[in-house]
Amino acid sequence: MRFSRLLIPTSKEVPSDAVLPSHIYLLRAGYIQSVGAGLYNFLPLGKRVLDRVRAVVKEELDRAGCQEVDLAFVTPAELWRESGRFEKYGKELLRFKDRKENEFVLGPTHEEMMVNLVRQSVKSYKQLPLHLYQIKTKFRDEIRPRFGLMRGREFLMEDGYSFHKDEEDMKREFDHMEAIYSRIFTRLGLDFRVVEADSGAIGGSGSKEFMVLAESGEDTLVVCDGCDYGANIEAATRAPKEGPRYEEGEEPVMSPGEFHTPGTTTIEALAEFFRLDPHHLVKAVAKKALYDEGREEIVLFFIRGNDELEETKACNAAGANELTEVTEEELRAAGLTPGYMGFEGLPEGIHYYIDRELRGEANLIMGANKEEYHRVGVQVPDLSERFADLVAVQEGDRCARCGGTLRYTKGIEVGHIFQLGTRYSEPLGATFLDENGKARPFVMGTYGIGVSRLLAAIIEQHHDERGCIWTRESAPFAVEIIVSNVKKEEEREAGERLYRQLLEAGVEVLLDDRTERFGPKMSDFELMGIPYGVVVGKKLAEGTVELITRDGMVREDRSLEEIVPVLLERV
Ligand code: ATP
Ligand code: MG
Repeated sequence: MRFSRLLIPTSKEVPSDAVLPSHIYLLRAGYIQSVGAGLYNFLPLGKRVLDRVRAVVKEELDRAGCQEVDLAFVTPAELWRESGRFEKYGKELLRFKDRKENEFVLGPTHEEMMVNLVRQSVKSYKQLPLHLYQIKTKFRDEIRPRFGLMRGREFLMEDGYSFHKDEEDMKREFDHMEAIYSRIFTRLGLDFRVVEADSGAIGGSGSKEFMVLAESGEDTLVVCDGCDYGANIEAATRAPKEGPRYEEGEEPVMSPGEFHTPGTTTIEALAEFFRLDPHHLVKAVAKKALYDEGREEIVLFFIRGNDELEETKACNAAGANELTEVTEEELRAAGLTPGYMGFEGLPEGIHYYIDRELRGEANLIMGANKEEYHRVGVQVPDLSERFADLVAVQEGDRCARCGGTLRYTKGIEVGHIFQLGTRYSEPLGATFLDENGKARPFVMGTYGIGVSRLLAAIIEQHHDERGCIWTRESAPFAVEIIVSNVKKEEEREAGERLYRQLLEAGVEVLLDDRTERFGPKMSDFELMGIPYGVVVGKKLAEGTVELITRDGMVREDRSLEEIVPVLLERV
C-alpha cells in the first residue's frame, strides 16, 4: 500500500478525555475515530489490525474443531424472557421495540441465541460435542464507557458456546479451550496470566479469566509469591487470617456482656476505645440488594474489623442482581442502629451474612443493635446457612495453597472461559436424546475473547513515549519504507524497487511516498508503530539504507543487496 493513497489521519492533538497510551495513540495514529461515548469507527489501519487479530483467533479456533457461525445481532426479547435474563441483566441491555411493538434486545452476549439455534437442530448425543462460535459486534450500554477500545459500548467479541452430553466432557473442552486461548494470546505477543474468576451465582471454580498484565488494567489480581496461584480479587481466597500474636496470658479475654460505648460508630474509634486490635471486632457493612422485578432489600454483611467487604462475593452470597449503597435514614427506617449493628438481636426479617472465617470464633466485640452499646465476648454460633466468603484478600495475606505471601497486580481481562452447565439449556428446554433414548439438557461451556479490546491491551503492553509498537501478528503492516525525499529521483526509484521486491516476496509493506518532509514522516512511523522501517535517504549513494526496529528504535545500516533477505528473516 502507498501511504499517499491511504486514509491515515495522524494528529498531534491529544484528546482531552484520553488518559491511557492505547487510547491516545490509537486515535492520534489514525487507527480509530470516536463517534460518541463508547462508539468508534475503525479507519483503514485500525481495520487491518482488527482483521489480523481476528484471523489469529479464527485460525486457532478452527484448528481446535470449533465451527464459526454468525447469529442475528438483533435478538427477540422472548428468548431473554425464557432464560430469565430480560429482567436480570440491568441497564446494560439495550431493549427496544420495532414498528409492530415487538420487543428486542441488542445482543450483549449470545447464550440464549445459541441455545435456541442448537435446540432446533441437534437432537442426539451422536451429534455431540459441538462447539460453535462467532466473531461479532456486541452492544452493552456500559455505565462508564472509557479508555477507548478498552471499555466500549459497541465492541467486537469472539463468543463461543460448547454443547456436551455430560459434565466430564464439558470439563475436557474447558481445559482444551484454556490451552487454545493461551496459544492465541501468546501468538499476539502478550504477557498474560490465567486466573481464577468469579462464577457469579453459579459458584464453583468453573471460571477462568485471561489477564494481560498492565498497570492500567481495571481488574485487581491476587497472585502468590510462592506458587502459581492467581485469581481475580472478586474470586480470590486466602488461608484464614491470623490475629495478632500475644505473649502467654496476654490474649484478650472477655466476659460476655453489654458495654456502653458512646461515639464508637467506626472500627477505628471502637479499637481505640477498647485498646484492641480490630481483628477482634466485628464490622457490619450494610447494602441495598436489588432483585428481579424491582424488589429491594437491606442486607447486612458481618466481617472482621480489619477486613474489607468484596462486593462481588457479597452480591453472590445474597443472590442479588446488584448491590447498591444504602443511606443512614433507610437503615433507621428499617429499625437498625447504624454504627452499632450486630448479628444478634436484629429486627425481624433483616437478612444478613457472616464471613466464613468468623465461624466458631470467640472473644469478639460487635454492635448490640442498641444506640451507643456494643456486645463484648461474643461467640459466633454455627449458623451454617449464614456463612459465606465475603472479604477481599489483602496484600500480605497468606496463600491457601502454599502459605506464600499474596500480593496485588493489575490486569486487563481479554478472555473468559466458563463452565456453564445447564443454566441456559434447562430453562430454554434444550435437550438431546442420550444413549438410552432419554431426553437430557445439554451441558454447556461458554468462552469469550474481547477482540477489539485486544488492540488496546496490545498497545498498553507495547508502546513507548513516541507511540505504538505492534507485535508481529497484530501489526497493520510488517514493514514501512520511508523515502526520505521523493523529489530525489534516485531515492524515489530505490524506494519503489524495494517496495516491489517486498510485495513479490509476500511481505505486507507500506511505502511512505508522500511529498512530506522527512521529520513528520519519521514521527508518523514512530506513532503508527509498524515493527520495521527502512529509510531510503542520504546513504543511498553508498548503496546503503537504514533498517529501524521500532521496538527500541534500533538503527542499522544495510546494503541494498542484503536488506530484503534480512527483512524476510525477521518478519
Ligand atoms: P468486564 O468485567 O471487563 O466488564 P465482562 O466480564 O463483563 O468484562 P464477558 O462477559 O466475560 O465480559 O465478555 C467476554 C470478553 O469481552 C471479556 O473478557 C472482555 O475482553 C470483552 N469485553 C467485555 N466488555 C467489554 C467492553 N465493554 N468493551 C470491550 N470489550 C469488552
Ligand atoms: Mg468476564
